Amino acid sequence: MPNVLTRSLIQAGPVWSVLFFTIPSIGLSLALTLWLERDAPDLRDRLAISALIPLIVAPIVSAFGVKMIFQLEKIRAELNELAIRDPLTKLYNRQYFMERLRAAIEFSKRNRDPLALIMIDIDYFKLINDNYGHNCGDFILVEFSKLCLSIFRNYDVVSRYGGEEFFIILPGTSNTVACDIAERLRIAVEKREFEFGPENPLNITVSLGVTSVDEGGDLRSMIALADEALYISKNAGRNQSSYKILS
Ligand code: GH3
Ligand code: MG
Ligand code: MG
Repeated sequence: MPNVLTRSLIQAGPVWSVLFFTIPSIGLSLALTLWLERDAPDLRDRLAISALIPLIVAPIVSAFGVKMIFQLEKIRAELNELAIRDPLTKLYNRQYFMERLRAAIEFSKRNRDPLALIMIDIDYFKLINDNYGHNCGDFILVEFSKLCLSIFRNYDVVSRYGGEEFFIILPGTSNTVACDIAERLRIAVEKREFEFGPENPLNITVSLGVTSVDEGGDLRSMIALADEALYISKNAGRNQSSYKILS
């Protein structure tokens, strides 16, 4: 996290940041001249010079410093993004998903708000790699991720858990709505033709496991329940979604 000064400068923008250093420099220079040279006969000239020097020097020096601060902040934000994103799909990674789920559970408990979790696994994904190559598998993972982002809301947390497994956290979402959304995604994937190369339209299917809590559960049991629901979908023949809650 940037400190208060850095945050304020970034919010203010580069021009105001330079002024932020320049104006006090001029003020300080004038105050010192007034104090030290108060009896000088040419006080006016001295004051003019003492204002002029920081007026020229301070913007040059502070512009350099401000540029460094802005560049460092950009690098910090990029590093932060890298730490929470999966490099291939650019979805949130497993570690960030766990953090967000923990926070969502806490929020749900405190506010007695429903919370849903969907686990998704691409069916027979190994066959895609085996038949069309690993690059094609990667392409499917990227395109599938884009499809997920287009279906879920901005405040849902769409993450790649690992391999061809994904988790979606749906804050403030009841079980019926979550099941509807899961089905909507399943059908969208089934209908979608993934074009790897111009004459290679591919179809895939996904199996989904949905779970939800009304006012907070715990991390392990929510993940376990979504996984169990997914297992039911797989065992029932794949390309379907199932729902499971703590009984
Ligand atoms: P199921 O319907 O039971 O889920 O079968 P599946 O073939 O999808 O599952 P399985 O666990 O047998 O295979 C998953 C495959 O996903 C194996 C692994 O090589 C592949 N995989 C994992 N990560 C990546 C990746 O980043 N890129 C590619 N191309 N393949 C990956
Ligand atoms: Mg799997
Ligand atoms: Mg699979």
